[in-house]
Amino acid sequence: MMKQRIVAGNWKMNKNYNGAVSLLDDVLAKYDSGSDVKVIVAPPAIYLSEFSNRVNGSENFALAAQNVSSEKNGAFTGEVSAEMLSSLHIQYCLVGHSERRTYYNESNSDVNKKVKALLEQSITPIICIGETLEERESEQQFSVVKEQLVIAIKDVEAKQLKNAIVAYEPVWAIGTGKTASSSQAEEMHKFIHTLLVEVVGAEIANTISILYGGSCKPDNAKELFNKANIDGGLIGGAALEADSFIALTNTF
Ligand code: PEP
Repeated sequence: MMKQRIVAGNWKMNKNYNGAVSLLDDVLAKYDSGSDVKVIVAPPAIYLSEFSNRVNGSENFALAAQNVSSEKNGAFTGEVSAEMLSSLHIQYCLVGHSERRTYYNESNSDVNKKVKALLEQSITPIICIGETLEERESEQQFSVVKEQLVIAIKDVEAKQLKNAIVAYEPVWAIGTGKTASSSQAEEMHKFIHTLLVEVVGAEIANTISILYGGSCKPDNAKELFNKANIDGGLIGGAALEADSFIALTNTF
């Protein structure tokens, strides 16, 4: 059984319009559309409309939003709805990134609402989970990750999660230059896969790619991506430059 291999770039709040368009065009020119690795780019929301036109027809390439409102529509100033994303043909959306949990107080139940809002519009969630350094040091990483994931998909029908994506991102490894060792990451990915089998059944669990995130770069990715339960990466810093990002897509 081989899950879809994926490299996803999270640009966070970086790049002005010209910089964003030129990075996207560089990535589109350099990625291998014939490879079986799916490439996903998550730019700031303001660029999704323009990007959606530019990527039109690019094989094995998709766009993701970095966030979505849990509300359907209405008086929620500054928010972007799942329906709006869907109307631009956006296929994926990050949910529960640790920066949103930390800086915007997103709870597990907020993440669950967002997952449901996305699925209602047939947008595939990329569910981000991961423990803090404190939690790992007190050996709570498995219980924390389990709670995050179980609540994120609470009351969602298993079949709706077909081809969903989970990103395991230990918070202590994001943007810090520290990566989890490949054995630490594999241990957690295996745990997540086994948990998914329990919660949604093997048939659906076998379609859910589990990405590693946290200071993943071309020079450390090979060891990580070679592990049985690591299906690719969610990339921050190294996604802001086409060459390092593309190198990651060629690292399996
Ligand atoms: C991320 O924020 O999803 C991430 C993995 O960032 P970085 O690669 O910069 O650690």
